[in-house]
Amino acid sequence: MISLNGINKYFQDNHVLKDISLQLPKGSVTALIGPSGSGKSTLLRCLNLLETPQSGSITLDQETLTFNGKALRTRDIQRISRQTGMVFQNFSLFPHKTVLENITEGLLVVHKWSKGDAIARAETLLEKVGLLHKRDVMPATLSGGQQQRVAIARALAPSPKVLLCDEPTSALDPELSAEVVAVLKQLAEEGTTMLMATHDLRLAASVASHTIFLEAGEIIETGDSAQLFRHPQKARTAQYIATLT
Ligand code: ATP
Ligand code: MG
Repeated sequence: MISLNGINKYFQDNHVLKDISLQLPKGSVTALIGPSGSGKSTLLRCLNLLETPQSGSITLDQETLTFNGKALRTRDIQRISRQTGMVFQNFSLFPHKTVLENITEGLLVVHKWSKGDAIARAETLLEKVGLLHKRDVMPATLSGGQQQRVAIARALAPSPKVLLCDEPTSALDPELSAEVVAVLKQLAEEGTTMLMATHDLRLAASVASHTIFLEAGEIIETGDSAQLFRHPQKARTAQYIATLT
């Protein structure tokens, strides 16, 4: 179980996350929806400590990290961030490394795996996302959907406790986006714990069992995805969902 407890994040006097608490049970998939600027990316970035909240705490299984306004120790940041995997909107692959090297790099440099183990792990994941035949090409020769599938494989390589996806399909046209949705759906069925920020109704509704609606840094409504999309409890949620396509 991963949880955020009473998280507050400010950028100067902009209060971007307001007392956010949420739980991600092992094997669950949660979609984070909400208008632009509502704090979705910031929430994901707080979970992997790319941003430090001013107060609250994060719990990853037995381990809790509490924020009290002081700078975190590097080893605390690393301990948490290494247990998370992140997928970004624009893939963010290393352009001068092959597909395989994109996946082995973190395993070798950060996680200190042996070369043989790293290559075997990368090949297993490339097979899973249907791209083993592309192992030796450069990312620029791949379609956006293929690049995103490599990015997903890279994020999963060290077996993180949670896969964080920030708008994984929003840079893709519908056909390529469908490829990525299919991979995420397969991962969900295999029990990968995921939290994904998205404006993509199809992604949220077809992959996430649970959805959180965030607005202006506050959780407005949370629930079973099918229920929340079909029968939102709050007028504001209904109004927002109507804007999604
Ligand atoms: P979008 O749907 O457009 O991606 P979002 O829900 O992901 O939006 P965030 O990017 O989390 O929203 O931004 C939330 C608020 O925090 C916004 O007001 C934004 O301007 C502010 N913000 C985000 N990152 C920073 C930063 N590094 N420095 C200052 N302000 C920031
Ligand atoms: Mg964002």
